[in-house]
Amino acid sequence: MVPALPQGRTARIAALAAHCDDLPIGAGGTLLTVCRARPGIRIDALVLSGGGSAREDEERAALAAFCPGADLRVTVLKLPDGRLPAHWDEAKEAVEDLRAAGDPDLVVGPWRGDAHQDHQGLAQLVTTAFRDHLTLGYEIAKWDGDLGRPSAYHPLSPEVAEAKADLLLEHYPSQRNKPWYDREAFLGLARLRGIECHTRYAEAFHVTKLTLDLSGE
Ligand SMILES: [Zn+2]
Repeated sequence: MVPALPQGRTARIAALAAHCDDLPIGAGGTLLTVCRARPGIRIDALVLSGGGSAREDEERAALAAFCPGADLRVTVLKLPDGRLPAHWDEAKEAVEDLRAAGDPDLVVGPWRGDAHQDHQGLAQLVTTAFRDHLTLGYEIAKWDGDLGRPSAYHPLSPEVAEAKADLLLEHYPSQRNKPWYDREAFLGLARLRGIECHTRYAEAFHVTKLTLDLSGE
């Protein structure tokens, strides 16, 4: 098991999403685990769409619940859902602003193989802006059947996996009418990813580039 965050100082995570609820669905258990273990950790979250609507309120409350005790800064923009290519420059500027705001120890965002155009576009922007950072690309189950073969796993305790499902159902009433938005889907994928890394539950991520330091210094 590889420690991915620094010891002895406050770590910093940049977390990016095209839509409200993407981050908690893709990495909510991981955020919950990290924030509980590291009080005061800095989390900069950027969400490209949903700003100014009820969805922004949901997202802010959800992220606060998924990042307890964190120094959490949330930005929710108003780009229209499903239209990222038409608003490429705005999205690019927002990602670059986040990059310029600080040097994160870890980046969490969508992965380039995601079939949703907005997720895929943001994944490209993240790779361009965060060139020297470990980036975990989260997965979101969907109609397109685009779940791939992830390369990085973050085990979740059963309690965290259950809490993730509870919080997702509690904080996003606007999504409850979607046929896939249920406890069974969230825990089912976490259980499958758990099997793949010899634990009960896990979240899995795509890592396209990893720079190693084996010097031991
Ligand atoms: Zn999304």
